[in-house]
Amino acid sequence: MGLLLKIALFGVALYGVWKTFRYWKGMFDRFTGRPEVPPQRPPAPQPGPPPVAPPARKVVVEDTVQCAGCGAYISTAAEKCGHCGRPRP
Ligand SMILES: [Zn+2]
Repeated sequence: MGLLLKIALFGVALYGVWKTFRYWKGMFDRFTGRPEVPPQRPPAPQPGPPPVAPPARKVVVEDTVQCAGCGAYISTAAEKCGHCGRPRP
């Protein structure tokens, strides 16, 4: 008998043992009457004032200047226009 066949048979046997074990364990649990305990849920929150909305996030608006060459709005931090390459006024 080949080694692979032995390994395969061993795996099948192991699988059968595992399934049998699970089956009997389930039967045992049923007979002992252990109920399927649902997961404990925290008590429902009491109705109260609505939660305070978080403060609106400040939107940082970057200062922009209009390019004299092409009219595109470029950041004041930019050295030159990204469209036409003209130096920032
Ligand atoms: Zn430009």
